[in-house]
Amino acid sequence: MVKRCSYFILLLLIKQTAFSQSIDKIINSKEVARIEKTLSADNMRGRKAFSPEIDKAAAFVAAEFKKAGLQPASGNSFLQQFAQLRTTPVSVSGTMNGKPLDEKTVGVLSGKEELTIDQSSGYKQVRVNAKDTLPVVLMKLQRQGGNYLVMVDTVHRAWFERMKKSALYSPKGDIVMVLSPEEAGEYSIKYKQTVNGRSLKNVVGILPGKSKKEEYVIFSGHYDHLGVGRPNAAGDSIFNGANDDASGTTAVIMLANYFAKQKNNERTLVFVAFTAEESGGFGSQYFSQSFNPDQVMAMFNIEMIGTESKWGANSAFITGYEKTDMGKILEKNLEKTNFKFYPDPYPDQQLFYRSDNATLARLGVPAHTISTSKMDSEKFYHTQEDEIETLNMNNMAAIIRAIALSSTSIVAGKDTPIRVAEGSL
Ligand SMILES: [Zn+2]
Repeated sequence: MVKRCSYFILLLLIKQTAFSQSIDKIINSKEVARIEKTLSADNMRGRKAFSPEIDKAAAFVAAEFKKAGLQPASGNSFLQQFAQLRTTPVSVSGTMNGKPLDEKTVGVLSGKEELTIDQSSGYKQVRVNAKDTLPVVLMKLQRQGGNYLVMVDTVHRAWFERMKKSALYSPKGDIVMVLSPEEAGEYSIKYKQTVNGRSLKNVVGILPGKSKKEEYVIFSGHYDHLGVGRPNAAGDSIFNGANDDASGTTAVIMLANYFAKQKNNERTLVFVAFTAEESGGFGSQYFSQSFNPDQVMAMFNIEMIGTESKWGANSAFITGYEKTDMGKILEKNLEKTNFKFYPDPYPDQQLFYRSDNATLARLGVPAHTISTSKMDSEKFYHTQEDEIETLNMNNMAAIIRAIALSSTSIVAGKDTPIRVAEGSL
């Protein structure tokens, strides 16, 4: 009996070693360096949204997804192309309840150059009260479709300003927002803006689930960065963005490769490299519209994992840790490793709201960003020095392996994190 038992343990040990060898084979520092080097090379010219060079980066990511064996998300292309409208207000005029309206009190979410409406135009009225969350209300209305006059309580002034400038618009209808403590009575509004459309691309690949095909788990990072700016003292003008966020994009490619080789995902896995994070999160906003948020079980957004975290090697933090139990699930899956996830140590910086996870998190999805960036002292953040030489390839490989292992029970459909409560954003 004793003999059999130890034989059994020995077998287990062999099995475990074999497993850790196989993950090392797929996710290792050599492969990290290969992908990082390509994405952060000077010839990518800092991967700025709308630049010709960012298309080179998109093509590279698409080729990697194809090589890994992912399925393209849209038809036969890994590129999710969309027109990004840039709107600039020109003039606002009109009255409500006998009082004049102007650009301080009116904003629109529309792709049209001119909107002229009054109470006979059939706009449904919605009131956003003090207790509501303006962006959540707006996103819900856009999902429903139709035209709305949204009366926004003046306590939401800051959000109103942000949403006015946001790139949220929908082909399914127009939204006119009026900042006012009053109900809408008689009104007439004339709004003019200029609209310019330019093309952007996310890169999206899918690994269909074996059984729970309608349950999605998303792995993401943004592949855009800041482009070319003024030369620094050393004459370098290229913002390579090796850490921000070629490192996250590298992780997404390697995770795609890893899970494609495992062939055991019960849930459908979606791998996405977002565009235009640095210029307003347009890529993730567009991508999020293609999902029913209720079907997204978890999102692992990966941002800046190229340097050691404040706790040193083999650790990373999770933004919005306390908003769901996803962090706890990940930790449970890492119990037998020497890797540790911590709650975000920089809550004042509002990182949970500042990256590509935020759009889906606002709709309730357990969507968190994983990072190691020392946000109070990361020396090369948004500088020309954010280059591959400043990153730790071994540590990056360790983090990517940890993300892979920590997600095991979620990918297998055994664990489902609780959802972000509405209004907590
Ligand atoms: Zn970033």
